[in-house]
Order: sequence, then C-alpha cells, then structure tokens
Amino acid sequence: MVDCIFCGIVEGSVPSDKVYEDDSVLAFRDINPVAPVHVLIIPKKHVPSLLDAEEEPELMGKIIAAASKVAKELGLAEKGFRLVNNCGEHGMQTVYHIHFHLIGGRQLTWPPG
Ligand code: 5GP
Ligand code: ZN
Repeated sequence: MVDCIFCGIVEGSVPSDKVYEDDSVLAFRDINPVAPVHVLIIPKKHVPSLLDAEEEPELMGKIIAAASKVAKELGLAEKGFRLVNNCGEHGMQTVYHIHFHLIGGRQLTWPPG
C-alpha cells in the first residue's frame, strides 16, 4: 500500500468534509483554507502528480468536469474562481497524490508568488 494521506481520505480512514463524490473522483474541503471556498479535487486512484496525468487523460477530464460542477454548486459561477495544481518542488506540491485546488469566494490576485 502507498502511504498517502489522500488515499486515506478516499478509503475513509482519514476524516474529511466531502462536497462531491463519484466512482472515480472525490472533492473535499481543504483543512487549511486560503479563501472562503477552498476545495481539493482528487482522483480516487493514486496518481502522484501532474507529470503522471499524461497517462490518465480520461480521469483528468472527469476531474475538470467535477470542478465545474462543484464550482457551480458552491456558488462560484457568478463571480469566478481559480483551479490550481501545484506540481513538484518549484510548484510547492506537498501532497504527492494529484489534486486541484478550487479556490474562490473572495477577490483573488495575480500573478501568484
Ligand atoms: P499542495 O501544496 O500539495 O498543492 O496542497 C496540499 C493541500 O492539502 C494543502 O492546501 C493542505 O492544507 C491540504 N491538506 C493536507 N493534509 C490534509 C488533510 O489531511 N485533510 C485535508 N482536508 N486537507 C489536507
Ligand atoms: Zn494517494
């Protein structure tokens, strides 16, 4: 077994505040939110990072579709939001189970640091 906190959330051994789930995708609130809405969208399958996404085009499409659905359900459609993936050391990825941050509910700034 892979020792992975997000696999633990998928399996249910680690608690989480889920906002969306289907056969292949899970979305739950970030434990340390940076905005009023901060949701992590992940595949249930352990895919380490965006560098592995090339082999998983169908799954990545499902994640983007889930992001669109959750953004609307959480009231982000009118004002907008951001969908972010941090990859590797320079991207400041800390959990190596690919995830997309859905962030909104306040005015965001650009460019990021
Ligand atoms: P990264 O820097 O890898 O892109 O982001 C990892 C995110 O996972 C961080 O925003 C962090 O707050 C969140 N996180 C880490 N551990 C947990 C956890 O056990 N539960 C939840 N809900 N979020 C977590
Ligand atoms: Zn994992």
